[in-house]
Amino acid sequence: MVQMKKRTRADKGKRRSHHALVAKTINKCPKCAKPVAPHTACSFCGTYKTKSTVTTKANKAK
Ligand SMILES: [Zn+2]
Repeated sequence: MVQMKKRTRADKGKRRSHHALVAKTINKCPKCAKPVAPHTACSFCGTYKTKSTVTTKANKAK
């Protein structure tokens, strides 16, 4: 394969303008204040949006 046309610095820059990494969003659990991914039940206490939903090891012991 042969390169058809030279890519200029500007072409490269334009293409790579979309390559920046974005930091992940981390929320705090309203109950135990542990870091939780958004739209996810807390893995520690099982709370989702202030409601207890999932039974976890820490939950079950009580
Ligand atoms: Zn929690």
